[in-house]
Amino acid sequence: MTREPQKAVVAGVSVDTRHWIGGERVASSQTFTDVSPIDGSVLGEIARGTATEAAAAVAAAKAAFPGWSRTPRSERARILHAIADGVEKRLEDLAIVETTDNGALLRSHRHGVMPRVAHNFRFFADWLLRLGHEDFQTRGHTNHVSWDPAGPCALITPWNAPLMLATWKVAPALAAGNTVVLKPAEWSPLTASLLADIAAEARLPAGVLNLVQGYGSEIGSALTSHPDVRRISFTGSVPTARRIAESAVANLTPLSLELGGKSPLLVFADADLDLAVDLAVDQYDNAGQVCLAGTRLLVEEPIVEEFTRRFVEKASALKQGDPRDGTTDIGPNIHPRQLEKIDGFVQRALAAGAKAVIGGHRKEGLYYAPTLLTDVTQDSEIVQEEVFGPVLTLQTFADEEEAVRLANGTRFGLAATLATGDLERAERVSARLVAGTVWVNCFFVRDLKAPFGGSRLSGVGREGGAWSFDFYCDVKNTVTAPKGWTNHG
Ligand code: NAD
Repeated sequence: MTREPQKAVVAGVSVDTRHWIGGERVASSQTFTDVSPIDGSVLGEIARGTATEAAAAVAAAKAAFPGWSRTPRSERARILHAIADGVEKRLEDLAIVETTDNGALLRSHRHGVMPRVAHNFRFFADWLLRLGHEDFQTRGHTNHVSWDPAGPCALITPWNAPLMLATWKVAPALAAGNTVVLKPAEWSPLTASLLADIAAEARLPAGVLNLVQGYGSEIGSALTSHPDVRRISFTGSVPTARRIAESAVANLTPLSLELGGKSPLLVFADADLDLAVDLAVDQYDNAGQVCLAGTRLLVEEPIVEEFTRRFVEKASALKQGDPRDGTTDIGPNIHPRQLEKIDGFVQRALAAGAKAVIGGHRKEGLYYAPTLLTDVTQDSEIVQEEVFGPVLTLQTFADEEEAVRLANGTRFGLAATLATGDLERAERVSARLVAGTVWVNCFFVRDLKAPFGGSRLSGVGREGGAWSFDFYCDVKNTVTAPKGWTNHG
């Protein structure tokens, strides 16, 4: 079979792998190869953009900005709902393409992720229509607060939840009246291209959404250093965030950074143990490639044996395999380099004295055995650094004081989960945790109205509900004097 140069066909779904700039498909002279983590099959050759395509995309976004930013809110909201309709219409295509491209479970893409992608557009469209602030008076003068669109935005996203994370930025940026250039991750570039088709079908004007493909170091950095970019929203790793922050310095471009984590899951002796074990086993979701994952299990001493016994029983029953199979619990990791990284962390931890209660090794292909490591110290690499694979550590604590100290004892602060039967304790402990989100007796419940982001190295800024509009807009206060006001006396 001959492959077309910049096109992929995945499970019968055709994906144009060129850029989408100013309402047109644009090829690059070079490409990179996109491979499925499920079986290593080549999915297609993807346009490999450079500074030239980055500049063209920003120019298209800049040209489209006056029109889109002045489009009435109701019309912007209508088009965003039309994009959501398009996502729902193509839900099956999006789900199978995403699974094939990044290896996460098909059933979760079908029933959770892609409906959520549509919801991202609906939510921010509806919020836009309600956006407002009551005018207020200062010595007879009226203060009127408005949210002015900021300009072209560069949106840079990772591979672990590609379309979900991309649209969580695209939807509020467009709702706010901005134009965007989206650059998805090179390990999972496909669904973003389908989104461009869907947006065009929804009659989003040309140039309002632009998509460029390629490596971060080649096209990503050209975008984030571009003087016409007025906002950068990035989700990804801490080292990349540092590079992006440096590139944004020259233009003082405002940044939103959603970064990694090493979140704790605290299990107190008064917890419902079945629930606590379920929450802990859930941390293997998406083969551990979840920024919010509570990868550090902190368990109160008296229950650690029973907790571990039940955890091992439940985790050992997880089925690892093809993510397209509806009975699979854990799919592959994304890339040989990621697997290498995961195994490196585990082997160094074992060499340093950690014990693998379960796992601790690779399996065939890109699969890594769900792993639980004990006998780890707080200052060890495996406790301090984000692995981004199905690897959990277990430590014990004697009392609340120690639990809080261990929980807060890394450079991250993305999320924390508590399992306890005592809600007063939950309140006391969560008040002391350094984290953007704390879950009590639950995990991963997220409402788009809520602020989302991380503390410390887990990020800068918050997005979600009003926080998204604050970030994507230049918020303005207009003060108007009362009629007949004279500016003296
Ligand atoms: P990454 O930092 O390697 O890449 C993310 C994106 O940045 C990719 O699109 C990449 O091409 C681009 N990029 C790389 N170098 C760049 C540069 N110099 N300039 C501009 N763009 C550049 O991250 P990853 O490996 O794709 O994703 C995993 C990381 O993302 C983990 O640390 C994870 O915790 C984090 N993450 C955070 C959240 C959150 O909401 N906090 C959500 C998901 C993932």
